[in-house]
Amino acid sequence: MTTPDGFPQPTPRPLPAALAHAAGGPRYWLPQQQSAQPPTSTTAPSGFDVEAVRRDFPQLHREVNGRPLVWLDNGATTLKPRQVVEAVSEHYARETSNVHRGAHTLAKQATQVYEEGRQAAAELLGTRDEGEIVFVRGTTEAVNLVAQSWGRANLGVGDEILVSAAEHHSNLVPWQLIAAERRARIRPIPLLPDGRLDQDAYRDLLGSRTRLVALTHASNVLGTVPPVAEMTALAHRYGAKVLVDGAQAVSHFPVDVTELDADFYAFSGHKIFAPTGIGVLFGKRELLEAMPPWQGGGNMIDSVSFGETTYAPIPHRLEAGTGHIAGVAGLGAALRYLAGLDREAATAHEEQLTAYALGLLATVPGLQLIGDAPGRIGVLTFLLAGTDPMAVAGALDQQGIAVRAGHHCAQPALAAFGLQSAARASLALYNTVQDVDALVAALHEIQAAA
Ligand code: PMP
Repeated sequence: MTTPDGFPQPTPRPLPAALAHAAGGPRYWLPQQQSAQPPTSTTAPSGFDVEAVRRDFPQLHREVNGRPLVWLDNGATTLKPRQVVEAVSEHYARETSNVHRGAHTLAKQATQVYEEGRQAAAELLGTRDEGEIVFVRGTTEAVNLVAQSWGRANLGVGDEILVSAAEHHSNLVPWQLIAAERRARIRPIPLLPDGRLDQDAYRDLLGSRTRLVALTHASNVLGTVPPVAEMTALAHRYGAKVLVDGAQAVSHFPVDVTELDADFYAFSGHKIFAPTGIGVLFGKRELLEAMPPWQGGGNMIDSVSFGETTYAPIPHRLEAGTGHIAGVAGLGAALRYLAGLDREAATAHEEQLTAYALGLLATVPGLQLIGDAPGRIGVLTFLLAGTDPMAVAGALDQQGIAVRAGHHCAQPALAAFGLQSAARASLALYNTVQDVDALVAALHEIQAAA
């Protein structure tokens, strides 16, 4: 079946049992009224083959609660392709070794894998300088590193840190900690009702005391993608540095830190198809070089004596101790996997799916979407009138549909909408029209039963 434009209609799904009964017999459920545009294509212009991609993700082919898994909790973590699972397994099964130290074959192999992972991260972010890529546990550790090292060295009494009200707690609390220590001040960049950042307020907040702007590249609650390049250029006019939290951005669209002119950029491996426990901090070379060591120990020194200790060049100076070597092996595999896809087509697929989902969600009685910024990513946070978000997630789980409910570690963002909790379905490049149909049919069912 096609739309008048010739695009495929969503696959019809049987009406949920409760609705079928109410309608007097089985029929197929199709949206009757949509406030947003009807679905366009499910295949991106250059032919993104979502089914081929799905075959690479083993977890997509399991059942949960007797139903095929519908994974819509990508904002919390993404699933892993078999290439990543195999790279981690291969490291432990055949190549276990520490890096940078040994003079033996396996140490050299592990070091090569580790540095190839760094190179892949540099390519992902658009820097040619691998010294600008610091391995960390994830976005949280990246921000803490910058706050504790750069922040302690550069913040003083009365200095200001602008933090957007859309931030995840991991791009707020580390700044609160260092601000309290340095007697600096946090100033929130407010949100507009549609979930955009208030650019007028931002311009007013910037001033000679602004030292740093902490900015998400994509909100994990609202889906908002702020104009980071413009906001960074403005901050630079005041001599402020900008840290961009790319945790929700990197898997959804191509990122180029050089174009953004970001001073720091952070992301977590596990949100871009790689293992947990590994992430990346990008920092401009001159900034990283000027930053004092954050943690002391092995790997980060040049020479050590009781009289004087000197430090290794970046990035190693900021990577004390043994890193997550298997994690980097997995990260490298994930980034190579992604680089092997047509990223523009993957992004187009996600955009079309997001538009499709917004259209169908608008058909669910009593559903209120939180955030409506243009150009948003497929992070769909919502309330269902009369049902607690946790109960919504629980009912969906019974049907094998995984979404998240709660405050999403972004309490100020929810508070801006007068909320403490909401449900969230978040899409990734391997999600399909059928996943969205399953979600929306289940939500109709929940509402019909309420
Ligand atoms: N920032 C954003 C926007 C996030 O969504 C998350 C994870 N939900 C984080 C930071 C923190 O990531 P991690 O827990 O991997 O450090």
